[in-house]
Amino acid sequence: MRIVLLGAPGSGKGTQAKLLVKAFGIPHISTGDLLRNAIAQKTSLGLEAKAIMDAGELVSDDIVLGMLKQRMQEDDARKGFILDGFPRNLPQAEMLENLLKELDQPLQFAVLIEVDEEEVVNRIAIRAREENRSDDTEAVVRNRIHVYREQTAPVAQFYQDKGLLSEVSGQGDIEAVHQRILALMRF
Ligand code: AMP
Repeated sequence: MRIVLLGAPGSGKGTQAKLLVKAFGIPHISTGDLLRNAIAQKTSLGLEAKAIMDAGELVSDDIVLGMLKQRMQEDDARKGFILDGFPRNLPQAEMLENLLKELDQPLQFAVLIEVDEEEVVNRIAIRAREENRSDDTEAVVRNRIHVYREQTAPVAQFYQDKGLLSEVSGQGDIEAVHQRILALMRF
């Protein structure tokens, strides 16, 4: 199973990805997590990315693609993957298309999780307290939502045009959203 999860910050992509890992036994590949790991390890790319992430802007396509390529070539990703946080703009969507062609692993599903903006802001405020993420302050969250609307939302249309897009409501409890996503994969 090869899946891309799309949705605003706080829409539940990470949470749903973890449930899909259990359901399908394939890895969750989050570019946000790859970047946070690079920061924790104080690599030069991590140091370069940190200020950009803290401002809620997008890290350069080349940096993120480099990390993703490496991760996608690890053994566990041969069985499939749940991609979360990539692609974030149209150039990245094209890059992913090319990468998956090279790997001979075409995408099967792009799932857009839809949540109201108010709900997104509330959820992120809760996550800020739980995870202590430095990019979860209110001003940065508003910028991330703005960046999402301007740059990431068009990616849904990209997949719609390829006949790969499904939309699910991300409102309600976590298990209900999970079941909605599983239902898409079955039919
Ligand atoms: P996330 O954990 O997906 O919410 O990502 C946290 C932050 O990491 C984003 O606000 C961006 O600064 C950066 N980031 C994650 N994925 C990407 C990507 N595909 N392209 C550019 N920046 C990214």
